[in-house]
Amino acid sequence: MTQVLEPATEEALAEVAPAGVEETDAAVARAKAAFPAWRAVQPGDRAALLRRLADAIDGARERLATLEARNVGKPISDARGEMGMVVDSFRYYAGAPERPTGDTIPVAGGVAMTFREPLGVVGLIVPWNFPLTIASWKLAPALAAGNTVVLKPAELTPLTALEFERIALEAGIPEGVVNVVVGAGRVVGQRLVEHPDVAKIAFTGSTEVGRGIAEGAAATIKRVTLELGGKSANVVFADADLEQAAASAPMAVFANAGQDCCARSRILVERSAVDRFMDALEEAVEALRVGDPLEEETEMGPLISAAQREKVASYVGEDAPVAIRGSAPDGKGYWFPPTVLCPVSNDDRAAREEIFGPVASVIPFRDEAEAIRVANDTIYGLSGSIWTRDGARALRVARAIESGVLSVNSNTSVRVATPFGGFKQSGYGRELGPHALDHYTEVKSVYYATGS
Ligand code: NAD
Repeated sequence: MTQVLEPATEEALAEVAPAGVEETDAAVARAKAAFPAWRAVQPGDRAALLRRLADAIDGARERLATLEARNVGKPISDARGEMGMVVDSFRYYAGAPERPTGDTIPVAGGVAMTFREPLGVVGLIVPWNFPLTIASWKLAPALAAGNTVVLKPAELTPLTALEFERIALEAGIPEGVVNVVVGAGRVVGQRLVEHPDVAKIAFTGSTEVGRGIAEGAAATIKRVTLELGGKSANVVFADADLEQAAASAPMAVFANAGQDCCARSRILVERSAVDRFMDALEEAVEALRVGDPLEEETEMGPLISAAQREKVASYVGEDAPVAIRGSAPDGKGYWFPPTVLCPVSNDDRAAREEIFGPVASVIPFRDEAEAIRVANDTIYGLSGSIWTRDGARALRVARAIESGVLSVNSNTSVRVATPFGGFKQSGYGRELGPHALDHYTEVKSVYYATGS
């Protein structure tokens, strides 16, 4: 048995039995056996089952949110919002089975039509920062498209996935359609990647592990989608509403204690506005409430683990000066204060690597061309923001930044109805929106000879 810890207290929250290769193979076999019947469930019935599942999750929302808040160390208000998104994901994709998806194409001597067929057994491998939310972005479209799944949660945060498996069964999802296997990435994850009966891996996690998964999947020509790391730019022009940009910037990095692939951890500020922006930013960072995840007012909790805290600390005091430092509790818990480095060069390690903690780098820029060049000077391309009152410039810069998800005068990234995913080494494939369904189906073309 291994202990699952509560990062705010460093106490054990639960014990789980990690699976090995044999248990993983058994889960894949269950999923494979369940596939023919699940894909044959009539569209309206599959839609109804997914709606029932959404309702069941909704009913368990507070319990799931509390479990997630305790296990990840995230503020309970955030965890509640995330569970809302889990419910919304299932409601959104519940509409998919009854939506038309094919084409009819007139061709010589007959007609061709296309169908979108499910893939079979899909392996879902997810990280610890948004455990059930990210799982739901994969589960909902995969199940709606008629696949069966084996879900591997991260070692540090398996609890809501286990609850989900139980809720799915109770909601009437047939046995074997959803299988959760808890265990090490190098054992369970790797086996799913290698397994000949797994048709696809949908992965969210680090770029390093994602690279290994793409390599491993090549042996069986498995389909792969990868949602990986980020080092996104929050570009603030001098003509922006600086008060609003500065008020919003802290949570664009420090939400989930900075353990967010969409974190806008490089804040690019036009030189003439740096002083005004930093004054407003300091006020906003100092007002942040860092503390007990289960307190209603808490905005930032601890980091996930001692190892993560050590890694985050290694970026502070290295190249750039610490300009702003917020507060964090003393004593037990993996706390780290919200920290802003300024001025940072885009060549500094803090600006190049994904820190995955509450450390923001402020990088001054001269003009629009330099802002675009610096924003794109990274191996990543996941999210980003542009703050300006000049609409034409906003669109020009949005088109020029090599990134999958951008916001203008806002720092939000994720909506159930819009595609989410990365450019460059932030991955490939898209989750959410109608696009996700393409990644859980194959296109089949059928030619019907009509004789004329
Ligand atoms: P990780 O890559 O270490 O682990 C992710 C998952 O992969 C875990 O379940 C882990 O057990 C498993 N895994 C590890 N080694 C494996 C292997 N060899 N084969 C198969 N599976 C393996 O990532 P993490 O530390 O859990 O999460 C943090 C990372 O996730 C960050 O880099 C972050 O940017 C990224 N992330 C990306 C997104 C996105 O949508 N782009 C969202 C959240 C997190």
